[in-house]
Amino acid sequence: MNANHALEKLIAGNQRYVTGQLVHHHQSGGRMRAIATGQHPFAVILGCADSRVPPEIIFDHGLGDLFVIRVAGNILDDAILGSIEYAVEELGTSLVVVLGHERCGAVAATIKHAKISGHISTLLNAIQPAVDRAKNELGDLLDNAVRANIKLVVKQLKSSMPVAEFVQHDRLKVVGAQYNLDRGAVEIIA
Ligand SMILES: [Zn+2]
Repeated sequence: MNANHALEKLIAGNQRYVTGQLVHHHQSGGRMRAIATGQHPFAVILGCADSRVPPEIIFDHGLGDLFVIRVAGNILDDAILGSIEYAVEELGTSLVVVLGHERCGAVAATIKHAKISGHISTLLNAIQPAVDRAKNELGDLLDNAVRANIKLVVKQLKSSMPVAEFVQHDRLKVVGAQYNLDRGAVEIIA
């Protein structure tokens, strides 16, 4: 499936979710058995771990459809890059969506310079450049930082090898999207 078709499928699923017309695509026992011996997910979703933003539900898809990677603040690290590369190279996925969301707690904690312990600093350090960028913009700092973080992660991903090569050779499309917690809608922003 090409990337544009994959993106259309996600947007159509999100429309069903927003309008309350869920079809619970690919969530049956039959689907489970049909894909038991192999997967060909049509999109990678790099989303936040936030409990309110589960990709299969907000895009109205199911088993075998989405290769989902979730981490607070939808940031990148080497393990996540490896997971994305695996989906593209081994599973033939042609689309990556970096999915951030309104009022992200990880971004808010970064802005607040929250007192942190343990490994949370790894998350906040990764998000800090987006907060620095958003400080120069007009409007709500948290909202701007969430968007800046999505755009920066898209940029980092597109400039990381071998993803950069996949993009260059039209094997992969990388987009950034923001989920609206109040309406349930996903907006493509990068
Ligand atoms: Zn979040």
